[in-house]
Amino acid sequence: MGIVFTVREKCKGCYACIRSCPCKAIRVEQGLAQVMKERCIACGTCLQVCATGAKQVESDLGVVWQLLAQYPNVIAILSSSFPAALPEIRPGQLVTALKRLGFSEVMADSFGAELVGREYAQLLSKDKDRPILSSNCPAAVTYIEKYHIPLISYLAPIVSPMIAMGRVVKWQYNPEAKVVFIGPCVAKKAESKDEKVAGVIDAVLSFAELKEMFAAKGITPESEEGGQFSGPKPYLGRLFAISGGLLKVMGLSDDILQNDVISAHGRDYVVKILREFVRGDITARFVNLHFCHGCIDGPVIDNELSGFRRKELIANYTTGRADPVQTERDIQEYASINLSRKFTSQSIGLATPSDKDVQSVLKQMNRANPEEQFNCGACGYSSCWELAVAVCQGLAETDMCWPYVLNRLKATQEELIQAEKLTSLGQMAASIAHEVNNPLSGVLVYTKLLSKKLDSDTFSKQEALGYLSKMDSEVSRSSKIIRNLLDFARQSEPVLRAVDVNQVIEQALSLVSHQAQLQNIEVVKELSPSLPKVMADFDQLQQVFTNLILNAIQAMPDGGRLTLRTSVDSDGQLKVDIQDTGCGISRENLRRLFTPFFTTKEKGKGVGLGLAVVHGIIQRHQGRIEVQSEVGEGTTFTIYLGAHYEEEA
Ligand code: ADP
Repeated sequence: MGIVFTVREKCKGCYACIRSCPCKAIRVEQGLAQVMKERCIACGTCLQVCATGAKQVESDLGVVWQLLAQYPNVIAILSSSFPAALPEIRPGQLVTALKRLGFSEVMADSFGAELVGREYAQLLSKDKDRPILSSNCPAAVTYIEKYHIPLISYLAPIVSPMIAMGRVVKWQYNPEAKVVFIGPCVAKKAESKDEKVAGVIDAVLSFAELKEMFAAKGITPESEEGGQFSGPKPYLGRLFAISGGLLKVMGLSDDILQNDVISAHGRDYVVKILREFVRGDITARFVNLHFCHGCIDGPVIDNELSGFRRKELIANYTTGRADPVQTERDIQEYASINLSRKFTSQSIGLATPSDKDVQSVLKQMNRANPEEQFNCGACGYSSCWELAVAVCQGLAETDMCWPYVLNRLKATQEELIQAEKLTSLGQMAASIAHEVNNPLSGVLVYTKLLSKKLDSDTFSKQEALGYLSKMDSEVSRSSKIIRNLLDFARQSEPVLRAVDVNQVIEQALSLVSHQAQLQNIEVVKELSPSLPKVMADFDQLQQVFTNLILNAIQAMPDGGRLTLRTSVDSDGQLKVDIQDTGCGISRENLRRLFTPFFTTKEKGKGVGLGLAVVHGIIQRHQGRIEVQSEVGEGTTFTIYLGAHYEEEA
């Protein structure tokens, strides 16, 4: 894991980090935007743009608590940006609060900037033949070490103020002491561990981490007494956190009328100027590089102050504490500290894919034709070609292309709709088989009975004719059912004629009565003798009652009572109750009862169309169906008909 890493659960795959990363150091794997340690320069840009907080920085808090617990001398070195980062705390209060945390002394890297500034001035006066790139900003240095190897030789071989200050303490001021740097920068964490300058800074905290420490110890710096900074006294070095601060210490200015000195601050500016530098377009003698807009703009400063206000706070702090004579004396005292450093190539050497490979990825994303290459940038890469290159290099996935994903989704949706249609078709076919199977089973029963009874001497021709007529009516019922199902599918209107509902019920019952007998079901008929005829479709109503009676029978596998009741209610409506003492229906299932294909019956026994058919028929008769049920007690389906009594019709 690198200094910056991704918290898996928080990453929502918005690719904001990819869009902003100047090094394309984010690899997307299964939708997760991971930081590639070997490409990352720890500039912290991804932290600033990540809206979900998925990008986080390695914490040194544990190390610092341990140092404070184990060592008597732990010196805090504050970044010179502290007046802008913690404006609510006066500098003296900050010193006292840090000491209450256990730090033995508090210094600032501004004195390191004094030493470094002079070193730069000397370098510039000595080395007049070639341009110099500043090396104070660790993100800019690592960027050059990884992505502009030929520029390494232009980097000033001078340490940063943080390392300079670490050397001041460890090499002269108090070699026994442990040193903790506190600042607004992520790259400083990496710099302190860089083997070329390591050993003088023991841990690096961000200002946010410092606030966490204060909170953990219940310290409110704003209410502390003022304390004193230790060690050598800085003056103009306090300006180092502002982008032109180093120039001020060096006594230089980035006069816009002269091109000798350039102060390049901000990620895009640095990236562009280095490209121009490579091309030889830059004639300046000195380019001061800051990946942020000065350290006062560091990625882990968590206040909302404007750049101008931050600059003002630093300037006020600097002028309010000017003691140039003392500073000069201290500089002399530490003049022998070696401030030199080296740089090494950290080339990551990613192979450039062939045009053929890139084209084949573009083809895969349906972006082979130039007019299909929208270059919309939604993937985080500035062009479709760049994304395809990244895919070839294993940095990106084709699914990062939104138009491609949307097209695929559309295709999948169409496939799903098609699959759904096929499923419905299958279910409908099964339902037809189910409905037709009932009367056919009846025919089968009568055929078997007939062939059995034919052997018996007592079997009369009369009885045989009775069986045959039942078979005949079963067969015609099955053909009617098919018609009915087709009607249901077509939502056909009922053919109305005056119908005696009692007769329809008798007819329906006769079709399933053998089933009731087999299951030991007592059938109770309470059919009103004075029932008026209603205008209805006889066959459709018969199907309604057959379905409801069959369901009632199936709900009583161990026997029970089936009551069929007809009456006229107080509103003059014809009312039919089909009541059973079966298993009952749960509250949850009651809501879904009439939904097509809802069934609780085992495969092959139920397809869940019976009640949907019933509901459709009753609706088309402008009637109403109600159901009351208690689990374990039984169910009553009640049908109200009556909009079209024979007389009115
Ligand atoms: P199917 O009989 O094919 O399952 P239906 O639409 O006729 O389809 O019935 C749907 C479901 O309603 C049944 O599976 C069953 O759970 C429930 N149901 C219908 N009538 C009764 C009843 N009288 N008693 C208990 N449950 C019933």
